[in-house]
Amino acid sequence: MSIDKALFTRADFKCELCGSQENLSAYTVAPKEDEIVICSTCLATIDSPIDNESHWYCLNDSMWSVEPVVQVMAYRIYSKLGKQDQLEMMYMEDDVKAWAKEGLSNESQEPTRDANGTILVEGDSVSIIKDLVVKGANFTAKQGTTVKNIRMVAGDPTHIQGKVNGSTIFIISAFLKKL
Ligand SMILES: [Zn+2]
Repeated sequence: MSIDKALFTRADFKCELCGSQENLSAYTVAPKEDEIVICSTCLATIDSPIDNESHWYCLNDSMWSVEPVVQVMAYRIYSKLGKQDQLEMMYMEDDVKAWAKEGLSNESQEPTRDANGTILVEGDSVSIIKDLVVKGANFTAKQGTTVKNIRMVAGDPTHIQGKVNGSTIFIISAFLKKL
């Protein structure tokens, strides 16, 4: 890896998303060639932030970065996490927001499919086909539970968002059956 001095100086030799100084590398924010400095923890789930949702609380700080390229990453990660409140709070120039959305639409072309390969769309009702322990919440989503009015997760066809036991949770789409 060639270290871009200007980039790392801008980042103050810290991860621009979470502030960690461990295992830093440059990450290109497609479709442009601008880069940000991120740590290995951020890199591990940057494409699938749901896999480490609690780590991404770090965006509560970095979403206010003055660097458009950092705002773009924060916007994309919040979109994938379904954090509508934070998205509405973010201040971004129109062209920066367009860049953020461009990356998302490129990634989200794969349809979301249930256990049988049936394509799921916004508003569908599904049934859970196996007991699922809900990370972060204190319950198990039982096999046979119906989830109505599901929502898609931007850029991530492997999960949907839905309400179970009054909580909005992410569910792996392969554990669902369309009703
Ligand atoms: Zn990081």
